[in-house]
Amino acid sequence: MICSGCLKDHEKGYCPKCLKELFDGRKVSSILPFNSPYAEDAEEFLDHTKKISISGVQVKYSLRLENNELELAEAGGQYILKPIPTGTFKHLDQAPANEHLTMQIAKQVFKITVPPNALIFFKDGSPAYLVRRFDQTSDGKLQQEDFAQIAQMTSQTHGENYKYDLSYEEIADLIKTYISTYRIETEKLFRLVLFNYVFSNGDAHLKNFSAIQSAQGGYVLTPAYDLLCTRIHSPNESDMALTLFKDDFPKTYEAYGFHTYEDFYEFGQQIDIKESRVKKIIAKFIETHELVYTLIDRSFLKDDLKKTYMRYYKDKTKRLGMMQRS
Ligand SMILES: [Zn+2]
Repeated sequence: MICSGCLKDHEKGYCPKCLKELFDGRKVSSILPFNSPYAEDAEEFLDHTKKISISGVQVKYSLRLENNELELAEAGGQYILKPIPTGTFKHLDQAPANEHLTMQIAKQVFKITVPPNALIFFKDGSPAYLVRRFDQTSDGKLQQEDFAQIAQMTSQTHGENYKYDLSYEEIADLIKTYISTYRIETEKLFRLVLFNYVFSNGDAHLKNFSAIQSAQGGYVLTPAYDLLCTRIHSPNESDMALTLFKDDFPKTYEAYGFHTYEDFYEFGQQIDIKESRVKKIIAKFIETHELVYTLIDRSFLKDDLKKTYMRYYKDKTKRLGMMQRS
């Protein structure tokens, strides 16, 4: 059997390390004590819970830990639960497994900071993605703002598509303006932009990046969230939610019709990351990582989608490796 948290070998449910990260060591089952919102008693589920937000087609629920059991919370839950979304995108039943796999790859292979997360199952067997909230501490809620809020952009000021209205370069500019440790935070952004490109997350818009107050009082980027291979659900979408640069597309992009090494190299330079660091960070994404293949293989995706996920990944690393500088 496989741990539904870290995807390593484990007899049943979550391994001790995942139990510690997710539930402070309490023995919580990987099967929830209630049915999914799509089961026959769905109406009851919806009556007794409060949706904490609806972003696109994804309904999220708030959960709290009561003894060793997770239960639905009206407010102030410590966990967010994302069941299978509804809508017209493809393979939506695979979305929880997709997000879980992508978050685990980010954490285990690329050492990107992510909140503790796992796949969990409703009593009726339907999967959901479970993530521990990072904005709540024992002292209360930490001040957090996404980059649409930081840029003061809303649907009123910038229209329906406001979340897509800036470039990644402009996010870096905002980081420089508002965050004193911007050198570290800009590298985090750079790594995330590369990750999203390589793993075909085409929906990394302004609201999917946030800054949060740190224990020292200053602001830092939050752990990464909402990472998934959106191309599986929307095969014809564009490669990136935002453009890299605030001005034109780079010349090499015009030549190939997609991003290659040169574009990310230039982007890294443009946002003031040292050249040696830029090269090192990009190289890490071009390198072959056996662990990526292992995690895909052990994930909860259906077999045919494991192949698709792998194909998309290989396709992108190949593009990123084109015209690599030595
Ligand atoms: Zn585990």
